[in-house]
Amino acid sequence: MPNNKSFNHEQAMRAAITMAKQQPNAPFAAVLMDNRTGKMVARGANRSKENPAWHGEMDVINRHSAASIKPQWEHLTLYTTAEPCPMCMAAIAWAGIAQVVYGTDVPTLQQQGWKQMQLRASDVIAGASFRQITLIGGILQKDCDRLFALAQQTRAQKPAPATTNSDDDDDF
Ligand SMILES: [Zn+2]
Repeated sequence: MPNNKSFNHEQAMRAAITMAKQQPNAPFAAVLMDNRTGKMVARGANRSKENPAWHGEMDVINRHSAASIKPQWEHLTLYTTAEPCPMCMAAIAWAGIAQVVYGTDVPTLQQQGWKQMQLRASDVIAGASFRQITLIGGILQKDCDRLFALAQQTRAQKPAPATTNSDDDDDF
Protein backbone atom coordinates (compact mmCIF):
# COMPACT_ATOMS: atom_id res chain seq x y z
CA MET A 1 0.00 0.00 0.00
CA PRO A 2 2.35 2.81 1.04
CA ASN A 3 4.79 2.78 -1.79
CA ASN A 4 7.20 5.59 -2.17
CA LYS A 5 9.62 6.74 -4.75
CA SER A 6 11.48 9.29 -2.72
CA PHE A 7 13.11 6.93 -0.26
CA ASN A 8 13.64 3.23 -0.13
CA HIS A 9 13.72 0.73 2.66
CA GLU A 10 17.49 0.44 2.77
CA GLN A 11 18.06 4.18 2.92
CA ALA A 12 15.62 4.55 5.78
CA MET A 13 17.07 1.55 7.60
CA ARG A 14 20.50 3.14 7.31
CA ALA A 15 19.17 6.10 9.23
CA ALA A 16 17.96 3.75 11.97
CA ILE A 17 21.34 2.01 11.99
CA THR A 18 23.08 5.38 12.35
CA MET A 19 20.93 6.05 15.41
CA ALA A 20 21.65 2.58 16.76
CA LYS A 21 25.40 3.09 16.48
CA GLN A 22 25.18 5.94 18.94
CA GLN A 23 24.60 3.39 21.66
CA PRO A 24 26.56 0.32 20.66
CA ASN A 25 25.61 -1.62 23.79
CA ALA A 26 21.90 -1.48 22.97
CA PRO A 27 21.59 -0.81 19.25
CA PHE A 28 17.80 -0.78 19.19
CA ALA A 29 16.78 2.31 17.24
CA ALA A 30 13.92 3.41 15.03
CA VAL A 31 12.95 6.17 12.62
CA LEU A 32 9.59 7.25 11.26
CA MET A 33 9.31 8.17 7.60
CA ASP A 34 6.39 9.95 5.97
CA ASN A 35 5.30 7.90 2.98
CA ARG A 36 3.93 10.96 1.18
CA THR A 37 6.99 13.16 1.37
CA GLY A 38 9.77 10.63 1.85
CA LYS A 39 10.96 12.70 4.80
CA MET A 40 12.02 11.45 8.18
CA VAL A 41 9.68 12.84 10.82
CA ALA A 42 11.25 11.39 13.97
CA ARG A 43 14.09 9.25 15.21
CA GLY A 44 14.48 7.39 18.44
CA ALA A 45 16.58 4.89 20.31
CA ASN A 46 16.34 2.57 23.27
CA ARG A 47 16.30 4.52 26.52
CA SER A 48 15.38 1.70 28.86
CA LYS A 49 17.93 2.86 31.40
CA GLU A 50 15.75 5.92 31.90
CA ASN A 51 12.45 4.11 31.60
CA PRO A 52 12.04 0.37 31.05
CA ALA A 53 9.20 0.95 28.58
CA TRP A 54 11.26 3.26 26.35
CA HIS A 55 12.29 0.85 23.66
CA GLY A 56 13.46 2.41 20.40
CA GLU A 57 10.02 2.16 18.83
CA MET A 58 8.34 3.69 21.88
CA ASP A 59 10.88 6.50 21.86
CA VAL A 60 10.27 7.39 18.23
CA ILE A 61 6.48 7.29 18.75
CA ASN A 62 6.80 9.49 21.84
CA ARG A 63 9.04 11.93 20.03
CA HIS A 64 6.75 12.21 17.04
CA SER A 65 3.73 12.66 19.32
CA ALA A 66 5.50 15.41 21.21
CA ALA A 67 6.69 17.20 18.09
CA SER A 68 3.50 17.09 16.02
CA ILE A 69 0.26 18.90 16.60
CA LYS A 70 -1.71 16.32 14.71
CA PRO A 71 0.39 13.29 13.78
CA GLN A 72 -0.90 11.41 10.77
CA TRP A 73 0.24 7.97 11.74
CA GLU A 74 -1.51 6.26 8.85
CA HIS A 75 0.96 7.85 6.45
CA LEU A 76 4.05 6.71 8.31
CA THR A 77 6.44 3.80 8.06
CA LEU A 78 8.42 2.82 11.13
CA TYR A 79 11.91 1.45 10.51
CA THR A 80 13.54 -0.40 13.35
CA THR A 81 16.84 -2.23 13.63
CA ALA A 82 15.11 -5.20 15.30
CA GLU A 83 11.69 -6.79 15.05
CA PRO A 84 9.36 -4.99 17.47
CA CYS A 85 8.59 -6.74 20.74
CA PRO A 86 4.92 -7.27 21.67
CA MET A 87 4.77 -4.03 23.67
CA CYS A 88 6.12 -1.95 20.80
CA MET A 89 4.13 -3.75 18.15
CA ALA A 90 0.96 -3.12 20.14
CA ALA A 91 1.87 0.56 20.48
CA ILE A 92 2.46 0.73 16.72
CA ALA A 93 -0.97 -0.80 16.14
CA TRP A 94 -2.66 1.56 18.60
CA ALA A 95 -0.96 4.51 16.93
CA GLY A 96 -2.18 3.34 13.53
CA ILE A 97 1.18 3.29 11.80
CA ALA A 98 0.66 1.72 8.41
CA GLN A 99 3.89 -0.12 7.84
CA VAL A 100 6.76 -1.57 9.87
CA VAL A 101 10.14 -2.52 8.46
CA TYR A 102 12.77 -4.27 10.56
CA GLY A 103 16.27 -5.65 10.21
CA THR A 104 17.10 -8.36 12.73
CA ASP A 105 14.36 -10.83 13.65
CA VAL A 106 13.43 -12.14 17.09
CA PRO A 107 14.88 -15.66 16.62
CA THR A 108 18.24 -14.13 15.72
CA LEU A 109 18.15 -11.87 18.79
CA GLN A 110 17.36 -14.89 20.95
CA GLN A 111 20.19 -16.89 19.41
CA GLN A 112 22.53 -14.05 20.23
CA GLY A 113 21.41 -14.04 23.86
CA TRP A 114 18.98 -11.12 23.94
CA LYS A 115 15.94 -11.61 26.12
CA GLN A 116 12.89 -11.60 23.87
CA MET A 117 9.28 -12.48 24.45
CA GLN A 118 8.00 -15.47 22.57
CA LEU A 119 5.45 -13.55 20.56
CA ARG A 120 6.31 -12.37 17.09
CA ALA A 121 5.34 -9.00 15.65
CA SER A 122 3.22 -10.85 13.09
CA ASP A 123 1.28 -12.50 15.94
CA VAL A 124 0.48 -9.12 17.48
CA ILE A 125 -0.62 -7.78 14.09
CA ALA A 126 -2.82 -10.84 13.60
CA GLY A 127 -4.45 -10.02 16.93
CA ALA A 128 -5.08 -6.39 15.97
CA SER A 129 -7.85 -6.98 13.48
CA PHE A 130 -8.87 -3.32 13.64
CA ARG A 131 -5.69 -2.33 11.79
CA GLN A 132 -4.08 -3.09 8.47
CA ILE A 133 -0.34 -3.13 9.04
CA THR A 134 2.24 -4.17 6.52
CA LEU A 135 5.24 -5.90 8.11
CA ILE A 136 8.50 -6.31 6.23
CA GLY A 137 11.50 -8.01 7.79
CA GLY A 138 15.08 -8.59 6.81
CA ILE A 139 16.00 -5.17 5.42
CA LEU A 140 19.78 -4.76 5.84
CA GLN A 141 19.49 -7.76 8.10
CA LYS A 142 23.20 -8.60 8.02
CA ASP A 143 24.15 -5.10 9.08
CA CYS A 144 21.61 -5.15 11.87
CA ASP A 145 22.54 -8.68 12.98
CA ARG A 146 26.16 -7.57 13.20
CA LEU A 147 25.26 -4.58 15.37
CA PHE A 148 23.49 -6.82 17.85
CA ALA A 149 26.20 -9.48 17.81
CA LEU A 150 28.85 -6.84 18.48
CA ALA A 151 26.77 -5.42 21.30
CA GLN A 152 26.58 -8.83 22.94
CA GLN A 153 30.35 -9.22 22.64
CA THR A 154 30.91 -5.82 24.18
CA ARG A 155 28.48 -6.53 26.99
CA ALA A 156 30.14 -9.87 27.68
CA GLN A 157 33.63 -8.38 27.75
CA LYS A 158 32.90 -5.40 29.92
CA PRO A 159 34.02 -6.30 33.44
CA ALA A 160 32.15 -3.52 35.18
CA PRO A 161 30.52 -0.40 33.82
CA ALA A 162 32.74 2.59 34.38
CA THR A 163 30.05 5.12 35.00
CA THR A 164 26.55 5.71 36.29
CA ASN A 165 24.12 2.93 35.64
CA SER A 166 25.35 -0.54 36.42
CA ASP A 167 22.32 -2.39 35.17
CA ASP A 168 23.62 -4.46 32.31
CA ASP A 169 20.75 -6.87 32.23
CA ASP A 170 18.20 -4.73 30.48
CA ASP A 171 15.10 -5.98 28.82
CA PHE A 172 14.49 -5.04 25.25
ZN1 LIG B 1 9.92 -3.15 22.27
